[in-house]
Amino acid sequence: MRLFFFLLSLGKLCAIIANGNSCRFCGRRAEGCRERMPVPEQPKKYVLLDRDGTIIVNKHYQKDPEITELLPHAREGLDLLRSSGFGLVLVTNQSGIGRGLLTRADMTAVNRRMARELGGEEDYFAGMYCCPHVPEDGCSCRKPLPGMAEQAARDLGFALREAYVVGDSEGDIKMGDAAGAATVLVRTGYGSGVEEKGNVCPGYVADDLLDAAEWIVRQENAQDRT
Ligand SMILES: [Mg+2]
Ligand SMILES: [Zn+2]
Repeated sequence: MRLFFFLLSLGKLCAIIANGNSCRFCGRRAEGCRERMPVPEQPKKYVLLDRDGTIIVNKHYQKDPEITELLPHAREGLDLLRSSGFGLVLVTNQSGIGRGLLTRADMTAVNRRMARELGGEEDYFAGMYCCPHVPEDGCSCRKPLPGMAEQAARDLGFALREAYVVGDSEGDIKMGDAAGAATVLVRTGYGSGVEEKGNVCPGYVADDLLDAAEWIVRQENAQDRT
C-alpha cells in the first residue's frame, strides 16, 4: 500500500518535470522540452524516429502545420510497427526554435498535424522529444548526442540496446550508435546523400519507412526464433 502511494507521488513528480520550465538535459531555455503522451498499453520495444525527411517532407524550419506532408509509405510503415507491438518515439532537432525562426507552439502544431495525417491522435506517439537548441548552445540533447534517446528510455522504461533508431541524416545514425541501438537509414530526405557519402554504417538502408518497418519486424521475428 505504501509502495502504491510512493509510485503515485512519483507519477506526479514526472508530470511536474514534464511540464516544468527548465530543460532536464541542459537547464537552458527549453520550456516543455518534452511532451509526454499517455501510453494506452505499454509496449516493450520502441522505435525512435526522426521527423523531418523521415516521416514528413523536410521543409526548412517548418512552422505552418498546413504544409505538413507525409512521405510516401510513412503511414503504412508506422502502422506496421504499431500493429507489431512497437511504441513509437519522436526524436527531433528543432534548432529553428533556438534561432527564433519558430516557436515551440509552432512545432507542436506541426507534430499534432502529423499525428492526425497518420490517422492517430495525441497518443499515436508514446513520447515526443525535441532539442530546441542551436549547436553553439553546447546542449546534450542535440543529435548526434544521445541525450533525447536516453531520456526516452528512462521515461518509458526500455533498454536502448533493444531499440531501433530510424532517420535520414548522419546525426540520427550517430545518435543510435552512441545509444547502442540498432540503426536504419532511410533514403528519403537527406538519406540517399548520406548513403553516398558513407560516413556512417547503419544496420540497414531502407527506401522508405515501410521498408524500414519491414526490416525491423523481420529482425524481431528472427530474434524470437533463436
Ligand atoms: Mg531528418
Ligand atoms: Zn538541446
